[in-house]
Amino acid sequence: MQSTSYLNMIDSHFHLLSMEKKGMDLASILQRMEELSMEGIEIGLDADDLALRTARFKGYPFIHLSAGIGPWGVQEGMPPIQEQLAEFESQLSRNKVVAIGEIGLDNHHAYGTRQSQTQLMMAQLELARQYEKPVIFHNREADDQFLSLLGEQSFPQQGIFHCFQGSGELASLAIKQGFFLSFAGNLTYGANKTLQDLFKTLPLEHLLLETDSPYLSPIPLRGRPNSPLHLEHLYRFAAALRGMEVEALIDAVRGNFHRFLEQ
Ligand SMILES: [Zn+2]
Repeated sequence: MQSTSYLNMIDSHFHLLSMEKKGMDLASILQRMEELSMEGIEIGLDADDLALRTARFKGYPFIHLSAGIGPWGVQEGMPPIQEQLAEFESQLSRNKVVAIGEIGLDNHHAYGTRQSQTQLMMAQLELARQYEKPVIFHNREADDQFLSLLGEQSFPQQGIFHCFQGSGELASLAIKQGFFLSFAGNLTYGANKTLQDLFKTLPLEHLLLETDSPYLSPIPLRGRPNSPLHLEHLYRFAAALRGMEVEALIDAVRGNFHRFLEQ
């Protein structure tokens, strides 16, 4: 198992059950996370996964839960949107979450139609408003749609753009609306020079870091299933980009994360 030397790292976004499906040993990963005083959000993917995840992770106070139906909820073969939303709300009303997500728009995989993706996302934005929870956005190649959304609405509970890979224009508007931008292992990839340049210029108090485990392993582990225990590579890379000490970046992200939890 990959070990790490830093304490107190925040991982704002991971999918533990997806890691388990890839054969990874969650019990030992969670134990090591606890030893390292790590903390983060175990992110929901589907309408019906919250009750199960609540039961599974209730012994781990450093694991916070979010719940949401991602844009894959409208792909072919999924139950009708209204049916999924009813199940989602029923689980949401009985279990505690720190945020609604991940929800959003994906023109890369082009699940369903743009219209159906938007309908599913807007219904959950309404739930976020009702429950007074921040949102966690998934954005793949949908900058224009998010620019319109953020231009039209305000988000009193704010939220996170996860695995940020949007434009400078979207970054500015999101920050103006109070969002945090969370960067994942793809920040370390050689082809992402523009993203790296953007990352250097963003205000530190709006930044988070994440693994998106089991996806997006940072260099030098690219191509292997990712784990929160791989996070130090991203922190080291990100700190070097900004000309900071790793420990200072860890402290700053931890402070940001706790502000997010309190909003
Ligand atoms: Zn995710």
